[in-house]
Amino acid sequence: MEALRRRLRLDPQVIRRLRAVFLRSFCGQDAALGEVPEATRSEVSTAVRFHELERIETLHSVLDGASKVLFKTRDGCRIESVLLRIKTGRSSVCVSSQTGCVAGCLFCATGRLKNVRNLTPPEILDQVVQTGEMLQAEGRRLRNVVFMGMGEPFHNRENLFSALEQLSSPGGFHLSGRHLLVSTVGVPEGIRRLSSCFPSVGLAVSLHSVRQDVRDELMPYCRQWPLPELRAAILERNTVYNQPVMIEILMLEGLTDTDADCAGLKEWLAGLQVHVNLIPYNPVPGTVPVVAGQVLLGSREQRVGEFLAELKKAGFKATRRHSLGADIQAACGQLAR
Ligand code: SAH
Ligand code: SF4
Repeated sequence: MEALRRRLRLDPQVIRRLRAVFLRSFCGQDAALGEVPEATRSEVSTAVRFHELERIETLHSVLDGASKVLFKTRDGCRIESVLLRIKTGRSSVCVSSQTGCVAGCLFCATGRLKNVRNLTPPEILDQVVQTGEMLQAEGRRLRNVVFMGMGEPFHNRENLFSALEQLSSPGGFHLSGRHLLVSTVGVPEGIRRLSSCFPSVGLAVSLHSVRQDVRDELMPYCRQWPLPELRAAILERNTVYNQPVMIEILMLEGLTDTDADCAGLKEWLAGLQVHVNLIPYNPVPGTVPVVAGQVLLGSREQRVGEFLAELKKAGFKATRRHSLGADIQAACGQLAR
């Protein structure tokens, strides 16, 4: 952009306004080009590539305010993003960081996909731009960007950080760290690097179980980082930034939701600044994951309520996640091209 600006002798203000209209107001390419003097507009229009992804299909939930958007990259990979329209008007987009995920968690549709590659910063950011434009057309505003779509963000750390840089930069999307959230399967080194480079960006950790054997079975990839190592990284993060880390617990009957699980979790979390988020299990069609000879089953509604009450009674901040878009396979763990 800077080279182009110099070549066309454009006022830096023009580029600043173009970026603001495109990246902050989400008014689209034509409106952004409207900021450029007419004499050079067509040249800017040919020189600048505004979009990196092709939008293939959009599904709207009939249950709630979720939409799932299927995009295609230039080399033909398919990825999905989810738009979450929340009643209060604070809309969020859940973006993908990879075209699949090598972590292969038993309960997740993304983990079953083959041919995984990292998304580039423009591919990550165009998900935000295009969904932001969809919301803008409805008179809504995109407020939050959460890295909870396809992929493990810390497996694509450099591109993730480059995207976060743009998302938080005043000359870019200008979103504060409070409106950005990265969810990880629990890569300690990634957590440390995020804490030092982007301390105010929210962190969520998919803990699911504090029983090492259960976690190893559910998330085989995480065996390389035993639970104490993960806890140490969360503790370190707490010392760097005074905001709770979100701890995600997938509620599975008899596996992560027993009284012993609740007691173990409370003990594990003692001394950490956290917010526990209980996630109901969204079954993945066509799969029957088995752990210890038992088919994975979501916890009963009542059990989730009891577990939540127990955590709150012990003084923990805790909430239950209401996954949106279950009817269009857009809920947590259901994204699969
Ligand atoms: N790779 C990152 C972020 C994407 S998944 C991570 O694993 O944290 C976002 C959340 O959805 C994670 O907490 C993940 O464990 C959870 N999830 C995966 N599959 C799920 C399913 N079938 N039902 C409910 N939650 C699921
Ligand atoms: Fe990857 Fe997250 Fe799915 Fe696990 S839950 S396979 S880390 S996307």
